Amino acid sequence: MTAVQAARRIVVVGGGPAGVFAAIEAKRTDPTAHVVLISDEGCEPYEKPPLSKAVLTGKARPEHAPIAGPKGTAAHDVVLERATLVTALDRAAREVIAADGKRFRYDAVVLTTGSLVRELAQLPLGMARVHYLRTEADARALAAALGGCNRLVVVGGGLIGLETAASATELGIRVTVLEVAPRILGRVCDEETGAFIAAEHRRRGVDLRTATAIVGVRNTADAVEIETSAGAILTAEAVVVGTGVEPNDELAAAAGLTTDRGIVVDEHCRTSDPAIFAAGDAVRFPTPRGLIRLENWRHAQDQGAVAGRNAAGANEVYRAIPSFWSEQYDLYIQGVGFPPLQPTRRIRRPLAGKSLLLFEIADEILVYAMGINAQRDLAAARRLIERRIPVDPAAIADSNRPLAALLKANA
Ligand code: NAP
Repeated sequence: MTAVQAARRIVVVGGGPAGVFAAIEAKRTDPTAHVVLISDEGCEPYEKPPLSKAVLTGKARPEHAPIAGPKGTAAHDVVLERATLVTALDRAAREVIAADGKRFRYDAVVLTTGSLVRELAQLPLGMARVHYLRTEADARALAAALGGCNRLVVVGGGLIGLETAASATELGIRVTVLEVAPRILGRVCDEETGAFIAAEHRRRGVDLRTATAIVGVRNTADAVEIETSAGAILTAEAVVVGTGVEPNDELAAAAGLTTDRGIVVDEHCRTSDPAIFAAGDAVRFPTPRGLIRLENWRHAQDQGAVAGRNAAGANEVYRAIPSFWSEQYDLYIQGVGFPPLQPTRRIRRPLAGKSLLLFEIADEILVYAMGINAQRDLAAARRLIERRIPVDPAAIADSNRPLAALLKANA
């Protein structure tokens, strides 16, 4: 770049992990660029995983975990525009427009608008005693409500629902979980792992009711009454709804970008407008399985980083390996890889104590691993999956042979 050229202006919309990583990596890639990160929340961007765990049990506060590190986004020379709601993109003028009328000129934009909770009509957002959990403000409100709560109903046996159920149980609250599907964690893990986790919740006293829908809701003076499809009436001081999310692609769609239940991007995280990139929960992106969306923390960070670098002039391809982790009681649950579509070979590795480790192998390649309290093995499994290293099923099943050794054998 010559001295007469103006600095590149990069605007990132959305202060979650994808946005923070996009902004930091854009600045790192082009240190002369002017990088602005716009967040509709009034605080430094914070990590969301603690919100359903340590924040609810009072062991941590959201501000203890800034995504950009202890010194925040400013330490990365990123300009954070807080409490700023973006309402439109003016693609002709190359400006991002905020609700207060402020305009941000751009050479490149990264949209990291995330997802919005799927609202249940019977338990709408804003209803008394009803909590959805997305933001630090939601977590603070729920933590306060749990303080005066004896009975909690959780709607949805997904990650939000079960992590909240575990946190509330640890606080001594009686918890009932209602899941509409025949089993919990249907979108997250295989049946065997789900059954293991369900057994632990029941052992801890959680009343887990699957294949159960809500047919009626009534607010009384000091509680909510929920009628289930099985004819039961549950009374609770608070209700938590964790029934999934929808991609927040409204801004992109209104600006005329291609969307399809998510902002559609190519392998470089570029939308249908070459000056606009997108990453994270909001995005549908190409994989060997076609266009998919992923809703996990690591994907948001990794895809955000690639989108940020590309917005600053790089030309990187993003390749995702899905992964998640969850903490419930003393269970550290992890999964990595695409759950197989066709029947594959399932292998279990026997482990001592309250642990589980299973693998799916297709054509000698490890494609999927799920573990409980098996962090070291999952880290090795991730590398085996990423590198597509052929594995011997007998070695995978033998707990005396460290998985990391399989990596070395094929290095
Ligand atoms: P989720 O993991 O998709 O789970 C939602 C669950 O609610 C599903 O099992 C769903 O069943 C069920 N459900 C849907 N409608 C229902 C109804 N009317 N009554 C009862 N159950 C119903 O979503 P989430 O738990 O709400 O979490 C929201 C987002 O945050 C997700 O993207 C999740 O990955 C993320 N998150 C991640 C973590 C983590 O990685 N540790 C922790 C918390 C949240 P069906 O599948 O049958 O619809």
